[in-house]
Amino acid sequence: ADLLRRIDELVRLVPDYPQPGILFRDIMPLLADADAFADVIAEIAGRVDGPVDLVAGMEARGFLLAAPVAVTLGAGVLPVRKAGKLPGPTAAQSYELEYGTATIEIHPATVPAGARVLVIDDVLATGGTAAATVALLERCGAEVVGLSFLVELEALRGRDLLSGHAIDVLLAVS
Ligand code: IMP
Repeated sequence: ADLLRRIDELVRLVPDYPQPGILFRDIMPLLADADAFADVIAEIAGRVDGPVDLVAGMEARGFLLAAPVAVTLGAGVLPVRKAGKLPGPTAAQSYELEYGTATIEIHPATVPAGARVLVIDDVLATGGTAAATVALLERCGAEVVGLSFLVELEALRGRDLLSGHAIDVLLAVS
């Protein structure tokens, strides 16, 4: 309860960013607070059930959570990057945005067959990014054992795109 309150206090609300009408949740003040950051990483790692081989983090804020969680769990880290950032060979997955499409990429050579992968990002919004990440990892032969988010924007119903997967959220907001 105390950690939840601190997350709520330290995630900054930014109206009309990056576009008019969007209320952006900025996790940087939370990451900058040494105690809160450490507690969040320990909490995410502590809620994981069973062994994990790799922690996948979505560019860019997902990287900042995935790496320390991976170290805590004794797992490797797998950056899920925006298209064009990784030297090949890569595996790619495109997905729909409100306007247009986006593409993410990973290095399939770093995903052993049957690897147990935990997926982490800062915010679950529409779920498009997370669902594309799951699809990409599964195509590469991984088993997605769960997804963890710092904040879930419940009204956007992102978890509807992730049915069948274990989802852990520290702070759910409407
Ligand atoms: P989705 O694909 O709509 O679920 O959007 C999730 C992606 O957009 C994640 O990588 C988030 O980091 C980012 N995102 C969406 N809304 C926010 C927000 O309010 N704060 C920070 N990141 C956000």
